[in-house]
Amino acid sequence: MTTELFDMACPLCNSNRSRGSWLGTALYNGKEFHYVECLNCKSLFCDPMPDEQTLSEMYGQSYAMSFAPDPMVDDPKEPQRVLQQLTKLSSGTFVDYGCGQGELLKAAAALGWNAVGVEFDQEVARQLEQRLGAKVMTSVEALRSEPIADVLHLGDVIEHMTRINEQMPAILKLIKPGGLLIAQGPLEGNVNVFTLGIRLSRSFRSAPIHMAPYHVMLATRQGQEECFHRFQLRQEEFSVTEVSWPAPSRLSSADLVRPRALGLYGLRRVSQAVSAVQPRWGNRYFYVGQTS
Ligand SMILES: [Zn+2]
Repeated sequence: MTTELFDMACPLCNSNRSRGSWLGTALYNGKEFHYVECLNCKSLFCDPMPDEQTLSEMYGQSYAMSFAPDPMVDDPKEPQRVLQQLTKLSSGTFVDYGCGQGELLKAAAALGWNAVGVEFDQEVARQLEQRLGAKVMTSVEALRSEPIADVLHLGDVIEHMTRINEQMPAILKLIKPGGLLIAQGPLEGNVNVFTLGIRLSRSFRSAPIHMAPYHVMLATRQGQEECFHRFQLRQEEFSVTEVSWPAPSRLSSADLVRPRALGLYGLRRVSQAVSAVQPRWGNRYFYVGQTS
């Protein structure tokens, strides 16, 4: 692979040194998005980032419908770990930034917390607020808000940020001084046998992949840790696990004659067994940090 220097700094660790990556180029709506590799933290990121027009095409009406849950692939989110953190603290205001259908808000409220959601779309926020009876702000309203959160949760949000240097500080401003950030998400650039296998199979193909650049960062453990550190958070916990996603968690009888499903399933099982004895390996993180 040739070493080239690109213009954009790594959105995770802020290093200026990057080169072309094994993932190559994604094609979406006639536009090319190059995934480059940071030479410092080894994370991959999209250069250029999708612009506003592309974002509105990607996250339009069809977004929610295009992610109907696959019964064979378990949801990698771990709401229970967030709730465990909340039970350790005296209750206050809990903000779920990117609250989805509001399950975590309901569970936090049941623990005695004042639960507040944040959603991008105004109509989605309004409907959720009515259904849950909890306050749900739009991200625009959240930007104007005073610090209200004793605990703020970012679940599978950071990897979508196209302007992290503006977005992270704006979100962290919602947390009261000394409050907690709980974050979780994928580490798609981190070492594990599964990723090495995908990377190897990708190396035989140089054609662009047709996919929307939803995840604009494919973080390694190092990149994700450095990211929290550079936004002035003091780390209390950073743990890495390996989940099946995006591989199937189980196989149906129809899958037994589908080589791709079988292969992904088997590769993930092997990968999880290896990562179980390699503390830095895996594909998902759970983080707790305190604001200064
Ligand atoms: Zn980096």
